[in-house]
Amino acid sequence: MTARSVLVLNSGSSSVKYELLDPDSGTALADGIIERVADYGQALAAVFAALPSLDGLVAVGHRVVHGGRSFYRPTVIDDALVTKLDELAPLAPLHNPPALLGIAEARKMLPDLPHIAVFDTAFFHDLPAAAAEYAIDRDIAEQWHIRRYGFHGTSHRYVSEQAALFLKQPFSELNQIVLHLGNGASASAIRGGRAVDTSMGLTPMEGLVMGTRAGDIDPGIIMYLWRTAGMSVEDIETMLNRRSGVFGLGGEVDFRELHKRIETGDEAAQLAYDVYIHRLRKYVGAYLAVLCRTDVITFTAGVGENDAAVRRDALAGLAALGIELDEDLNSGADRGARRISAVGSPVAVLVIPTNEELAIARACVDLLAGAR
Ligand code: AMP
Repeated sequence: MTARSVLVLNSGSSSVKYELLDPDSGTALADGIIERVADYGQALAAVFAALPSLDGLVAVGHRVVHGGRSFYRPTVIDDALVTKLDELAPLAPLHNPPALLGIAEARKMLPDLPHIAVFDTAFFHDLPAAAAEYAIDRDIAEQWHIRRYGFHGTSHRYVSEQAALFLKQPFSELNQIVLHLGNGASASAIRGGRAVDTSMGLTPMEGLVMGTRAGDIDPGIIMYLWRTAGMSVEDIETMLNRRSGVFGLGGEVDFRELHKRIETGDEAAQLAYDVYIHRLRKYVGAYLAVLCRTDVITFTAGVGENDAAVRRDALAGLAALGIELDEDLNSGADRGARRISAVGSPVAVLVIPTNEELAIARACVDLLAGAR
């Protein structure tokens, strides 16, 4: 019998990432990225040309960044859902429109298969109000659906579930901090399997310092630039999304290059790293206080999985709070799910590779099986 497979598509503003995988074994059957996408029809045609046989394909899973207030469960896509997602575009102007273009083309190419939207905001849908709400005029917040939605939810959920499996403890009994440090970066606090805080907000711009995004800033900066520097809203948005963060400070997005430049005494690179680490430590401290008791802190995504210096500096000097790394484990060559805390560290510190595609594929088959 042919194994079943799911095609997972992540249609972004400049690329379409795809992975065909077996949701049962987790094996990737094909994956890749089509870059510099101008025409989503051509991009999807290139994806399908690169795929091996589609025998056994049971669903296409689409990563959708913003589900707004209404959408959080994985949902079979029909015309009505597309219309509603289209209405959410202003909440995620950089992310939802390309996803919808990818969905339209993929539905044309595979009209007889279920296409399923899996939302990046889902895991944070039930954040407690104290964490979800901004302290702004309540009527305006309600009228314009302004709240903290949170993103990278598929990754935070997957990694925290894997952490529980790794520790052989029930997900529902663990208090966790997950640090998803990739090009985009976010932190979450999870109490007994439920997300209780996260660093991204109405949009994926809030929180940690990222590759090219500023993360937290004083909103006064935006008005100041608009009013005094004569920058348009679009100029400011582009600056905060694409020319800020580690790149804005240090001229570099890739942490491997950043470290090389720091070693040569490059002050801008050093400043970028220092600001990045300082912000990360502030969120760790905040979430330790939110959770009261923390059982495990997990690093994931490109930087979190690979950069031992970031992990060391993020948690250095916190032994009094029960957090102690084993530097040999931290800087070892192992690349799989692993523990990097010292024996006897009350808080376990783990590195767990994220796998959003597998999580999306499994969400699809669970939905088809009626499990969600
Ligand atoms: P992601 O968005 O999860 O794919 O993460 C991408 C980022 O991970 C890159 O921009 C790099 O900064 C970082 N990265 C990838 N590999 C390494 C590595 N071996 N060491 C340090 N950082 C890395």
